[in-house]
Amino acid sequence: MNISRVRRCVLYARLSVTKEESVSIARQLEAGRRYAEARGWEVVGEYIDDGVSATVNSPEDRKGWAALVAADGFDAVVIWKVDRLARRVLDFLHADDTLQKRGAGLVAVEDPIDMTSPQGRAFAVMLAVFGEMEAEGIRARVRAARAHLIKDGRFVGGGIPYGYRSTANPDGPGRMLVKDPERIRWLGEAVRLAQRGETVNAVATWLTDRGAPLPIRRKPRLDPGNVAWNRQTVEQLLRNPILAGMTPHNPGRARSDKRADPFAVVRDPHGVPVIDESLAIITFDEFTQVQRILDARDSPQSRKRPERDTTSPFLSRVALCDDCDVFMYRGTNQKKPVLYCPKCRQTLSRVPLDPHLTNRLLAERGDEPCAGSTVQDRWDAAGTDELARREILRTQLESLRIRRGVVGRYFDAERVLLRWRPGTVPAGAHGAARAKPAPTPTAG
Ligand SMILES: [Zn+2]
Repeated sequence: MNISRVRRCVLYARLSVTKEESVSIARQLEAGRRYAEARGWEVVGEYIDDGVSATVNSPEDRKGWAALVAADGFDAVVIWKVDRLARRVLDFLHADDTLQKRGAGLVAVEDPIDMTSPQGRAFAVMLAVFGEMEAEGIRARVRAARAHLIKDGRFVGGGIPYGYRSTANPDGPGRMLVKDPERIRWLGEAVRLAQRGETVNAVATWLTDRGAPLPIRRKPRLDPGNVAWNRQTVEQLLRNPILAGMTPHNPGRARSDKRADPFAVVRDPHGVPVIDESLAIITFDEFTQVQRILDARDSPQSRKRPERDTTSPFLSRVALCDDCDVFMYRGTNQKKPVLYCPKCRQTLSRVPLDPHLTNRLLAERGDEPCAGSTVQDRWDAAGTDELARREILRTQLESLRIRRGVVGRYFDAERVLLRWRPGTVPAGAHGAARAKPAPTPTAG
């Protein structure tokens, strides 16, 4: 066959029993028509084998292919890919032989096959060999089918995420996902709280307190009176790529993957996530930012208790972020203790901060009365008990606020806004009587 002489062709498409592939047949034919049109070929027939596995059925055993072979008036058969025709090398060669005998050639839209030369033939056989190794191919086609469904705005199955519901597709078969007007508001509020740095637990409490309707369950609740949100449910909502209109892979399976990769989403052939704007409540960038907040929150907070306790509780709920007005959390950065703001993420190393505060406490407030004694005496008595030290610090503190600093700077005392409670010892007298005032590392 010489392809340049082809003028009349027929299309052949097959779909297997895999339900999700059902769109692929429309796509196969569409691609075949475009292929023919681009070459100026006339399409004189379309033959389909619907729900027929190529692994089980040889081409000649399929009604569609048999009708094609029996038809007249074409000199080319356009298929989408070699594996649409056959998944077994012998089947492929036999079918091609049949076509050759009746003066027709085989072309594939996606596979560059050329049955007119030995090299082309060898290549086609190789493709058929790959067709036999079908596992990955089927997975890839399921992904492609899903992406195609999503492009059409259709719902690909799996659990319906909170804030959405499925409805009949007005433009054709299947169902599509739409926003649930009532629940989408709660979802939006939950996301906004997370964006502002609230913990997952705080978001769950907020939803419970305001009576937000719980997710609809497939199985009835064991305890129907329970209306409390839990952190797992909230975290699932906040990590679902649907928030940005994306569709997670294997949506039905995400439930069991606790830390599912938020970017295992359906992508177009260029690798760009497929986004359905009609479902999105935040942008892609906002979604990635929420994921970063959740990830960062997890690192120090979700750590096992013994590990967390290795950072001193001396500054637990003591320092406020000056920008955000929230307590800074204890955490570690490269195994060094830090304070960090859960909202704006500013971080301050405690390696210089703790001694800085200790020195100022003892130098400026050492003579202040404290629990029947003085700050200095109580401090000495506290030894290395960090909680006792924390209590002493708190008796003297009016406020301790941490200002955002220049990134990369080691320690800047300017960032530490320290105000003591009104004192009893006259200003300037502090530490004056002390033989050895504690040195301030940041003096000057
Ligand atoms: Zn902050």
